Amino acid sequence: MIKVTIDNVVVEVEEGSTILTASVKAKVKIPTLCYLKGINEIGGCRMCVVEVEGVKNLVTACTYPVTEGMIVRTNSPRVRASRKCTLELLLSDHNKDCLSCERNGNCELQALSDEYDCDSKKYSGEFSKSNIDDSSVSFVRDNSKCIKCRKCVAVCQVVQSVDAIGVGKRGFNTQIGCAFEGKINESTCVNCGQCLINCPTGALTDKSQKLEVLEQLAQKKKRMIVAMAPSVRVTLGEHFGSKIGENVEGKMISALRRLGFDDVFDIDFGADLTIMEESHELISALKSGEKKPLFTSCCPSWVKFVEIFYPEFIKNISTCKSPQQMMSATIKTFYAEKLKVKPSDLYFVSIMPCIAKKFERLRDDQSAGGMGQDTDAVLTVRDLTEMIKVCGIDFMNLEDGKFDEMLGLSSGAGVIFGATGGVMEAALRTLSDTLEKNPLKKVEYLLVRGISGTKEAEIDIAGKKVKLAVVSGLNNARTLLEKIKSGEKEYDFVEVMACPGGCANGGGMPIHPAYVVNNRELAKERADNLYASDVKNNLRKSHENPSIKFIYENYFGKAGGEKAHKILHTTYIDRSKNLKS
Ligand code: SF4
Ligand code: SF4
Ligand code: SF4
Repeated sequence: MIKVTIDNVVVEVEEGSTILTASVKAKVKIPTLCYLKGINEIGGCRMCVVEVEGVKNLVTACTYPVTEGMIVRTNSPRVRASRKCTLELLLSDHNKDCLSCERNGNCELQALSDEYDCDSKKYSGEFSKSNIDDSSVSFVRDNSKCIKCRKCVAVCQVVQSVDAIGVGKRGFNTQIGCAFEGKINESTCVNCGQCLINCPTGALTDKSQKLEVLEQLAQKKKRMIVAMAPSVRVTLGEHFGSKIGENVEGKMISALRRLGFDDVFDIDFGADLTIMEESHELISALKSGEKKPLFTSCCPSWVKFVEIFYPEFIKNISTCKSPQQMMSATIKTFYAEKLKVKPSDLYFVSIMPCIAKKFERLRDDQSAGGMGQDTDAVLTVRDLTEMIKVCGIDFMNLEDGKFDEMLGLSSGAGVIFGATGGVMEAALRTLSDTLEKNPLKKVEYLLVRGISGTKEAEIDIAGKKVKLAVVSGLNNARTLLEKIKSGEKEYDFVEVMACPGGCANGGGMPIHPAYVVNNRELAKERADNLYASDVKNNLRKSHENPSIKFIYENYFGKAGGEKAHKILHTTYIDRSKNLKS
């Protein structure tokens, strides 16, 4: 350990630490625009410059290592002047459209420009040529607001190993985008949105259906039905001032009713359905030796990743629709029949932590109701936050509401889907009860918990060893697939989520400043509250959910049976040759 002094505060840090890491220990906030811990540490934006005693030039705190006895000043007039100049230069080539920008009020460039009293017109002159790419169904790139921090490029390459975007041209004409100025929907992009949640500005924003949904709510021509993914309840409060990961389920339900939804259901019910079908598929796979390993299919970015990069593994992906699509298929078949209305008289909105769900909604084979796509609209947590705000709902002071019956009843196994390892654990609870003589008493499978990118376990069920892996982040998935291909690893069942840490860190979640992202474990903090919610639930296993029992007995028949298969399963396509999404 070595001692350094930062703004008169002495701290002890490990050798090899940077000034930026040490500053966190000294409780000093050094601003950054391009730094992303462990992923983009390039010292490119020069916002983190500091003075080091005895060093002539300012140094970038994110790359400069500390040495014993170093004295650092992070907030001297010289440092402040340099940062202000950096910001004013960025603003000189920036589309300062703040009032109509989606990131207005949550933009790091805007916030720092304000803090440093910048003159946005100080440097006038030519603007670099920029373009707007709105070809993706999930997000829009507006390079007139890009500051070339390259965080999106690093995330796409390092975390996801997708490489859909890169840096084109040089100098003043530098542009971030696809190769040969191509469109993102013709690239290898898997719509994960990790680029978007790490962008410090409004250069990457949602392609939102919120106005369409508000219009449908106002028209009241259709019965409006809404349901939300597990992790939404532990993040929706974050932009209303609640703690990161705080469970605001009750307020969320009340807010949705105030917005005008007729039925407020829970996609945790869809997750329970998924477990019924997937555990049935897994048992068949274990017995037959086919589909070894069986991969989960809940994450549309993961599925698209396989379709693009590893089509030879398409046959191994579970044919189960995702919880979102099982939910909407159930609503457009069972629920429409129950209400004695046409599926097209129902409008189903899902609230998601994910922007790939917008892509999934539009996939082929997602129309069990037979009248267009089963899911009519997908909103992110950000979309719902904005809708609640624009409708003047005082979210934090709302009373707690309750889900509607039947499709709003779910087990604790359903809620943990929001954490990496949650689908695996939920499946194991049902698998064990199906294969073992006695019901499982201790339902927690701690071996598959935690936010590590790759977890492996071997468990014994009914005298058979079952080899498992849980992966999050597509680069980790790629590594695992290569090991399976080479024969180095062998598994029976593998859960994969594209976003690092699972849905709890999805691309549709609230966007926090870099300081928070770099120094907190958002996925873990949110997941902890999902596990707490599981513990509080009297139902811990999907197959014990009375609504699930009812719907199988009265509508679907057997899990994996003909009717269930027709409504709740889907197909995949080889996209390795045709990259259009
Ligand atoms: S990206 Fe930020 S600074 Fe630029 S227009 Fe949007 S809010 Fe304003
Ligand atoms: S959405 Fe994901 S895959 Fe697509 S460009 Fe962004 S990080 Fe890359
Ligand atoms: S799009 Fe956003 S994350 Fe990517 S380089 Fe531009 S400002 Fe940075």
